[in-house]
Amino acid sequence: MAEIYTSLISSQGGHAAAGKLLGVGRCPHCSVASPNLNRLWSDTFKAIGTQGWATYRCNSCNAVVCGEFIWEQGGLLKAISIWPDAKAAHEDVPQPARTFLQQAFETLHAPDAAAVMAGSAVDAMLKHHGYTEGSLYKRIDQALEDNLLTKGMADWAHEVRLGSNRPRHADADKPHVSSDEAKQSVEFAEALGNFLFVLTAKIDRGIAAAKAAEA
Ligand SMILES: [Zn+2]
Repeated sequence: MAEIYTSLISSQGGHAAAGKLLGVGRCPHCSVASPNLNRLWSDTFKAIGTQGWATYRCNSCNAVVCGEFIWEQGGLLKAISIWPDAKAAHEDVPQPARTFLQQAFETLHAPDAAAVMAGSAVDAMLKHHGYTEGSLYKRIDQALEDNLLTKGMADWAHEVRLGSNRPRHADADKPHVSSDEAKQSVEFAEALGNFLFVLTAKIDRGIAAAKAAEA
């Protein structure tokens, strides 16, 4: 985690987290860059080395970020953890799908862009599994036929495909994707990546570790 911090201000009976939370690259809710995060509430910190909690609200999306902090030398409160944490595409997802997925996370504040990136991530994941021929429509159906995808996953993949086509082709009736639609598309791309790559890699590592333990 990058360094996330705030300073201390005097408050009744000790010190409290200051008004702004600094060092957060993107709001974990709306993904706006350098979010303006304003304090809602803070624990009282009594001495250097003590830990406590504080909450901050994003000025762009109104959502709340919660952090656990430690009082360090020099009057700084350093974040130990932030919830929710900024989203990162899992390293077990192969390229270029991982970069498309990461860009989908980082463009959630621009739903059309996020929906297109989610579609590209799904497309790249299927290509990695050897589905390279024809339209994405056909490749999703082929992956269903081959049992790589379940029926529910294929239906959802088609939704993501349709959502990414609308802004891409400047659809005459409905060119834009809503924020909720984009979120669902990105969620599916992430879930598909977990299913196709992250879980498989975890299982492979587990089997290898079990074999090594036996030997
Ligand atoms: Zn936000």
